[in-house]
Amino acid sequence: MKVKVAINGYGTIGKRVADAVSLQDDMEVVGVTKTKPDFEARMGAKKYSLYAAIPDRMEVFEKAGIEVKGTVEDLLERADVVVDCSPGKVGAENKPLYERAGLRAVFQGGEKASVAETSFSALANYDDAVGKNFVRVVSCNTTGLARVLAILRDMYSIKKVRATMIRRVVDPKEDRKGLQNGIMPDPVRLPSHHAEDVKTVLPDVNIVTTAFKVPTTLMHLHSIAVETDDEVRTEDVIARFQDEPRIMLFSKEEGFTSTARIVEFAREYRLRYDLFENAVWMESINFHDGELYITQAIHQEAIVVPENIDAIRAMFELADKRESVRKTNKTLGII
Ligand code: NAD
Repeated sequence: MKVKVAINGYGTIGKRVADAVSLQDDMEVVGVTKTKPDFEARMGAKKYSLYAAIPDRMEVFEKAGIEVKGTVEDLLERADVVVDCSPGKVGAENKPLYERAGLRAVFQGGEKASVAETSFSALANYDDAVGKNFVRVVSCNTTGLARVLAILRDMYSIKKVRATMIRRVVDPKEDRKGLQNGIMPDPVRLPSHHAEDVKTVLPDVNIVTTAFKVPTTLMHLHSIAVETDDEVRTEDVIARFQDEPRIMLFSKEEGFTSTARIVEFAREYRLRYDLFENAVWMESINFHDGELYITQAIHQEAIVVPENIDAIRAMFELADKRESVRKTNKTLGII
């Protein structure tokens, strides 16, 4: 039996999750939704059955010559699970719709943790999502932090983590808003919310975070310092990261001097230059005076895609963590 997956909100994350679901042999896309008949809707309708996210807008799509199969309610009737990829906070508004339809739902990181029974990041807490009805995949920044910290937590006793996020201001497609020139403390009041979000999937990790937005759309950048009780051998961390498919090591020596170069590589490597992996700078991994330093870049549009697939498998108990992560990695080309 294949799990029937509906994608509510075919935007940046929704289109990527839909394509990732279609690559799996244990799940299938039964349809996607759009609110407006724009170019994304036109492209979505070519690949998938398209439904109107807002029921009284069916006519608008028809007028624009884009075929819609029905409303979001019609789509939900055909699904076993919905992946809500609507804008931040809208997922919580959509939740009663899913409850009325008796459906399980995966939410995204733009929602509050309270929207779901558990927050989720595959390497950190796969088992917490097993058999659950409502799961929230944590945000791009939190996924990036949680992956690295889940690995280190299994290797060492972590005393404290300090992390600073230099955040891309908006996604590449956003042309109506955006920081043109300047650096924006966001949030201004410190510490930032990212630490609390990491604790939703790694409750035992003592972490504090700060965050700033800069005028770039390509990737986020994290500067992480992990204070440990143990002596850390840099080569052990590098070896473990080399073994973990969801981490990709980049080296300055090879020409990776900035996120621009990593994206240039990813443009040849994957469709939409999606980098599902944490991009960790090899030379940054260093143990100094009781603290392990790491600099990593996160492709915000892609990083949570594998976690959405793993969340569905955990909820439907289709596979244990090892098997699900292996399968997701294989189908998405994460090696
Ligand atoms: P987006 O704006 O690119 O896409 C959202 C889509 O939802 C759009 O197609 C919009 O038409 C549709 N939509 C609007 N109202 C809706 C409604 N009421 N019901 C259903 N669909 C509706 O947004 P995105 O960047 O894909 O973000 C989606 C979620 O993923 C948010 O929670 C966000 O925080 C999270 N997220 C985003 C990123 C990122 O970098 N873009 C990374 C990780 C997580």
